[in-house]
Amino acid sequence: MSPANDSSSANDSSAANDATDPRPPNPHSNTLTYWIAGSIVAAILVALLFPPLAMMTDVGGELFLRALRMIVVPLVFTSVLCGVLGLGDIRKLGKPGGTAILYYLSTTILAVTLGLLVVNVLQPGVGTVDEDRVQQHAGATVGSPKSRIIKSLAANSGLSSTEVASVLEELPEGEAQRPGMGTILENMALMLVTDNLFVSAAETQLLPIIVFAIVFGAMLTTMGQRVSLVTQFIEQSNAALMQFVMWLMKLAPIGIFCLVASRFGEAQAEGRFYEELSQIGWYFGTVLIGLALHSVVTLPLIYWIVTRKNPYRYAWQLSKAMLTAFSTASSSATLPITMECTQEAGVSRESTEFVVPLGATINMDGTALYEAAAVLFIAQVLGMQMDLTQQLLIALTATLAAIGAAGIPEAGLVTMLIVLNAVGLPIEYIGLILSVDWLLDRFRTAVNCFGDAVGAAVVDRTMPPAAD
Ligand code: ASP
Repeated sequence: MSPANDSSSANDSSAANDATDPRPPNPHSNTLTYWIAGSIVAAILVALLFPPLAMMTDVGGELFLRALRMIVVPLVFTSVLCGVLGLGDIRKLGKPGGTAILYYLSTTILAVTLGLLVVNVLQPGVGTVDEDRVQQHAGATVGSPKSRIIKSLAANSGLSSTEVASVLEELPEGEAQRPGMGTILENMALMLVTDNLFVSAAETQLLPIIVFAIVFGAMLTTMGQRVSLVTQFIEQSNAALMQFVMWLMKLAPIGIFCLVASRFGEAQAEGRFYEELSQIGWYFGTVLIGLALHSVVTLPLIYWIVTRKNPYRYAWQLSKAMLTAFSTASSSATLPITMECTQEAGVSRESTEFVVPLGATINMDGTALYEAAAVLFIAQVLGMQMDLTQQLLIALTATLAAIGAAGIPEAGLVTMLIVLNAVGLPIEYIGLILSVDWLLDRFRTAVNCFGDAVGAAVVDRTMPPAAD
């Protein structure tokens, strides 16, 4: 959102609902997209040719990532509040809210189904990984205490041991047992409300912040003039934060270059990655095919059915966000840029402010597809037949696990343990896919962000006009 269109975008929902796009394409926006795409290609080349040099850029990448993450919590808080305030009456949120939930659930289920389908058809786990390798992976962790698994997952995923451990805590010791569906649902319900808003903010747990912002915003709308200063403060803070995002995006090509160069350089220096890829390349390709089908067929079809606009043009308008998602592997960190892009693409401010933050938290199509596909792949490698009931269980738990996954790098890998456990697969075999996960994560994060953006456009059709 540029300052020039800031004032108009609040009232753009009707314009955005027109059959034509409300704004002409912004040429500067395209230039930035080319710069970002170019910097990713350059970063990969530098990483392949001069790995030590590439790895030296990690500080630059970390700085950019921190700058993005720094504004996520205040931006989510003020933007969701603004979304509710913009509507003027919380009851107006009923239809768009229902549509958003329906959209999130149905696209996640479609993604999971597609994930299962591609693995069933392409059979990436049959006859690809040799027995020695399976034993070697198993031997590394089988029978070992959870702490070893936690260590290995944390080392590979970049998550803290505490984060990994908090997921593992829900899993029983020893032989894999099925965790009660009730426990999973109970935990998800508890995620909605926090007992300490500041702790949630410090840990970037967005869901309770969103819930609080909706309730707080609803309350403000009932208080009229008594809280006019508060509402003004929130709206102006939100505008300032979006302006900050605009500034940050100017640095995106450099930040993204550093992020990609350092991570790919690391993989090149280790050398193990390509060796692993040669073993499980077909699995890698299968997941990519699934992700591609979801983002090139399923989501565009939904977008077109609902909006009657060209979905690929919309995808192009979202490319900055998707490239950033690829580079950061975090849909939370990408959230400010996704919000900026959806508004630039003509989605109303209310829909963006309400749907994109919620989507970045609970709508993860790419993660859901990947979790279902990866679990079925592991079953295939181990020669375990998964009948229809078990595949349905995979679908159900993968949907819940994706909803529960945070928008941070490789969170999906951790919540996938719940799915493995649910169908009785030994969680140690996650080692089979660990080494390539960092790269797959980038692709699924891009799909996650695109799914959120399509959701915003879909919900926009049901969004009532903004209050004056
Ligand atoms: N990295 C993903 C995201 O941030 C989550 C995952 O699938 O690991 O959306």
